[in-house]
Amino acid sequence: MQLEFYGAAGEVTGSCHILVVGGRRLLLDCGMIQGGAAPDARNRAAFPFDAAQVDAVVLSHAHIDHSGRLPLLRKRGFRGPIYTNPACRDLVRIMLADSANMQQRDAERENRKHRRPGAPAAEPLYTLDDALDVQRQVRVVPYGQPVEVLPGVELVFRDAGHILGSASVWLRLREGGLERRVTFSGDLGQYDSPILRDPEPGPACDLVLMESTYGARLHRERAATLEEFGAILRAARRDGGNVLIPAFAVGRTQEILYELATHFDAWQLGDWQVFLDSPMAIEATGVYWQHADLFDEEARQWVARERALPSLPNLKLCRTADESMAINRMPNGAIVIAGSGMCTGGRIVHHLKHNLARPECDVVFTGFQAQGTLGRAIVDGRELVRIHGSPIKVAARVHTLGGFSAHGDQHDLLRWYGAIPGRPPVWLVHGEASAAEGLRDALRAGGTRAEVAQPGVVLDLQAAA
Ligand SMILES: [Zn+2]
Repeated sequence: MQLEFYGAAGEVTGSCHILVVGGRRLLLDCGMIQGGAAPDARNRAAFPFDAAQVDAVVLSHAHIDHSGRLPLLRKRGFRGPIYTNPACRDLVRIMLADSANMQQRDAERENRKHRRPGAPAAEPLYTLDDALDVQRQVRVVPYGQPVEVLPGVELVFRDAGHILGSASVWLRLREGGLERRVTFSGDLGQYDSPILRDPEPGPACDLVLMESTYGARLHRERAATLEEFGAILRAARRDGGNVLIPAFAVGRTQEILYELATHFDAWQLGDWQVFLDSPMAIEATGVYWQHADLFDEEARQWVARERALPSLPNLKLCRTADESMAINRMPNGAIVIAGSGMCTGGRIVHHLKHNLARPECDVVFTGFQAQGTLGRAIVDGRELVRIHGSPIKVAARVHTLGGFSAHGDQHDLLRWYGAIPGRPPVWLVHGEASAAEGLRDALRAGGTRAEVAQPGVVLDLQAAA
């Protein structure tokens, strides 16, 4: 019985770990590597295991850094079930289709622009067909319902409060006379965030595999963040430019829409035109509203009272490329919410190209920016960035709103862990080294055995607990 760390050990993206129980292999997530050195080549590389030998996958949530290589896993021979909850199934369908379309577009662009005569054509990592095929392997399990996913492996999903349908995974593993209970945190949300419920406390276990994205940081208070957001928008109106908000299509977008709608008068939003410029985010928002049973109390009350979530009267949904390009003819008055969240692709990149060099414009980051991404370069204060090969001066005002994170901060992570009885030992994943080490030290200070997982490390679970 063992646990092997592959992706998201020592970094934030590419989550992927493997449990071996009674000779069977259970994969925990199969995420895409984003940012960092040569992510495309790393995503294309062979898995450090035989995909055909994986018996089942447990998917903690729909974000692409947890789900993005599932079509590739299938392409390389995986035919087993993928367990996740119903809301995650609905979201991952959208995420993987978008990812496949992006891969195909990138490959086409590469072939059009850079292919040398006689050189082999660039291939997408996977196609839309691959992304659709893998969804036939998805099996849904609601929160709280125990299910045997492989002989000797039982799981229970608990709400992780990170995005809709996100789960922490509690696993009971049996091999011969040995039994071990392992909790995989998935990505954990903040307590008291809008729309979503708080992360659910986990039951007793022998070992915790835990994310550490913000393990060494404390977020700003939400109230202060909202105040800052309102002040940015009011100042931006006076400055006469546009506001760009790069946002993940799933989770952050819905949260921002919710806050804009609930603060519509206080933030004087009547003067603006708000654009949701992302077909994927539009679709994901629809999925959110279909799963109102998973909302927190406040959002459920909105739904009960208004029969809908708060809506923005000046919101325009942009599905087509023409609608998106029309925004670029607006010199001011536009608040544009578009993906990708880390500016690694998608429509936000075009809007940045048009607005980044304009000092009267504002860019508002509301989420984590991984190393090596365009978003990180802008957040880090780079004066010049390259977009589609051209140098662009960064003259717009750049803001980072820490309190919006879909990830819990150190207090949240310690609070979630503290609710697990018996202080089980912890292995930290899904964090850059300094974040994981910060959380490790905080856990150790509280008397917990904590280690930072390194890629390739194999943990013998008989000895581990
Ligand atoms: Zn996530």
